[in-house]
Amino acid sequence: MVTMHPDLPPPALRLGFDPDALRSNWQALDRLSGRACAGAAVKADGYGVGVRQVVPVLHATGCRDFFVAHWSEVPDLLDFIAPGSVSVLHGPLTDGDVAFARVCGVKPVINSLEQARRWLAAGGGRCDLMVDTGINRLGLPMTDLGDECLRALEIDVLLSHLVSSEEDIDLNQIQCERWQQACAAIPHQRASLANSGGIALGSAFHGDLTRPGIALYGGVPRPEMAEVIRQVVHPQAAIMQVRDIPVGDTVGYNATFTATAAMRVGTIALGYADGYLRCWSGKGRFHVDGLELPVLGRVSMDMTVIDLSHAPHLGEGDWVTADYALPQASAATGLSQYELLTVLGRRFGR
Ligand SMILES: *Cc1c(COP(=O)(O)O)cnc(C)c1O
Repeated sequence: MVTMHPDLPPPALRLGFDPDALRSNWQALDRLSGRACAGAAVKADGYGVGVRQVVPVLHATGCRDFFVAHWSEVPDLLDFIAPGSVSVLHGPLTDGDVAFARVCGVKPVINSLEQARRWLAAGGGRCDLMVDTGINRLGLPMTDLGDECLRALEIDVLLSHLVSSEEDIDLNQIQCERWQQACAAIPHQRASLANSGGIALGSAFHGDLTRPGIALYGGVPRPEMAEVIRQVVHPQAAIMQVRDIPVGDTVGYNATFTATAAMRVGTIALGYADGYLRCWSGKGRFHVDGLELPVLGRVSMDMTVIDLSHAPHLGEGDWVTADYALPQASAATGLSQYELLTVLGRRFGR
């Protein structure tokens, strides 16, 4: 639980969150998953969106399978959902992890024979199994599939993870075939392969459960999803100061913007320490009531200056919203859609 000082005023920046868009995205991804059900990757604080606001909405919409990376991410989820609905992707690295999983009732994702043995030695129980079909990162190697100890596991979801689902490369098909081989070799309840992008690769990739993450939160991994995915997150900040500057004056560190005419500018309470990174300098845009407010000069740690020429009525305490549609923001900055979300800092009210 976050404990707040009772007199703490609300912050001057907030993460506008659209629960309808999240709901609609999950429903669209569930529909695109065909016979399979969609789960949800909610690791890294729900991709930075805030797990405490994301999970209740997803659960109320019908989502029943939630994936986090670290054990430390479990307690927040258990305030909203049953432990049997939670899978921990990093798996049990230590006996402490195993003990925690058994006490809580969440599922470890077993990623190696070592993890399988560690889990079984403590008495085992329901778990998931990740098979590495080509990413060479985390998961049981295909060459270990014959090991006897795997027969003793009580596997709910047998999963694998795609290398490049947002692209059409041969490896997608190869991974799909290896995953099917693994499913044929190892008894399990449900099979799962597709992340967000994988959902668009067709029914052969769906199995029983899909695991979208980025697309739930407004990311568009493949162009064919652009029509159905809605923006979920809208970073907003309050104007702290307004000033009129004469032609020839510069704005911000290193004087990278020079006014070519007299103009009105506003300083907002959002900077790179909040995840509005310096790559937005001179190219970011904010808006209010359909009016465009370009970023002027460098983004600083706690502040950004915007052009108020088109909105001279704005003043101290008024709020503006960043242009932050993920596909466009990614194209503008070179940051991935994933990074754009997960960098958003802790000073945002969520
Ligand atoms: C993060 C993750 C996902 C979700 O991936 P997206 O590309 O965000 O849809 C699915 N499965 C695993 C194993 C993951 O680590």
